[in-house]
Amino acid sequence: MAELRDRVQGVFHCPVEIKGGFSDLAQAYNPERKQYLSSHLLAALGKAERNSRVVGIADADLYVPKLNFVFGEADMDSGTAIVSLCRLRQEFYGLAPNEDLFLQRATKEIVHELGHTFGLGHCPDSKCVMHFSNSLADTDVKGIRFCPRCRPRIVF
Ligand SMILES: [Zn+2]
Ligand SMILES: [Zn+2]
Repeated sequence: MAELRDRVQGVFHCPVEIKGGFSDLAQAYNPERKQYLSSHLLAALGKAERNSRVVGIADADLYVPKLNFVFGEADMDSGTAIVSLCRLRQEFYGLAPNEDLFLQRATKEIVHELGHTFGLGHCPDSKCVMHFSNSLADTDVKGIRFCPRCRPRIVF
């Protein structure tokens, strides 16, 4: 978490603080899918304070109806987002662990969802952090930063 905080801080150049975790993940669990309902956890984060954003980090597999899974989800009105770490690990795909790759992916997903809380949509630039990740390959291609077109739109 400390490593992720530092990396996210490096992108936004603003204070980033680690807070306590979710009190109850169980309420969002769907036993048929063996996954957690993303929107439910997002709502549980409440509303971010003025001029701030909140990102929930869940070490659980998240979904929304009609999709097999989601890497994350964001809500512009409440200034909150949620990111799942589950599918960002090489181990999830039966591969050898790679801590740095995992942290890079997690940073990209966190920065991406935060971008949505600032009203940014998906960007056609495949290197921009706001590019849509349909798969992890897309996530690995893009950078952790906003492109020159998206960057000016991050305004507190
Ligand atoms: Zn997105
Ligand atoms: Zn962009």
